[in-house]
Amino acid sequence: MPKSSLNKDEVKAMLLLVADRIIAAEPMLSEADRNLGDGDHGLGMERGMNAVKEKLAPGVESVEKAFSATGMAMMSSMGGASGAIFGTLWRNGGKALAGRESFDAQGLADLIKAGLEGVMARGGAKPGDKTMIDALHPAMLKAQEVAGQPLNEALTAVAAAAEAGREASKAMIATMGRAKTLGEQSIGHPDAGACSVVVIFDAMRDYVCA
Ligand SMILES: [Mg+2]
Repeated sequence: MPKSSLNKDEVKAMLLLVADRIIAAEPMLSEADRNLGDGDHGLGMERGMNAVKEKLAPGVESVEKAFSATGMAMMSSMGGASGAIFGTLWRNGGKALAGRESFDAQGLADLIKAGLEGVMARGGAKPGDKTMIDALHPAMLKAQEVAGQPLNEALTAVAAAAEAGREASKAMIATMGRAKTLGEQSIGHPDAGACSVVVIFDAMRDYVCA
């Protein structure tokens, strides 16, 4: 049954699906990072998501805490740039939902906006630098546009926007992040972090559309 909004326990279940999908995508994410970086992204994300599963297992206090606990678990378990960046995305995004009883399309828009702002402040990259922001920024713009729709429809549109952003990152020359020293040699491959963003939004979409 498609879901137009989620309660805190459903948010937890959605995040557990995100964790399982990232863990299953480890070979693809590792390969993506090997093409442009040091190859550690997939294993780092897998480690982070195993920590998330452990952290969420006892239950979540609120919508806010489900997301922010996810971010904290990633930050404390992963290390490295990806831990800080993806951890900030969820932690700052979660904080934007303080006091909300449910997670709907407006919440999605607020989560992504606050998460993206945190990531940009932390990492210093901007759209076009060939980083995870090139999937997250178009997702943010789409989420604002569809904030009045049911969550299942909003996430369908947002996941498609993230995917289009990841595809567009292939043609970019890296000026920040894992591949910045490769220059023009970075053309042709998507950024590994952008690949993770797509796995995350695909999982969220599949949870709310199932
Ligand atoms: Mg790496």
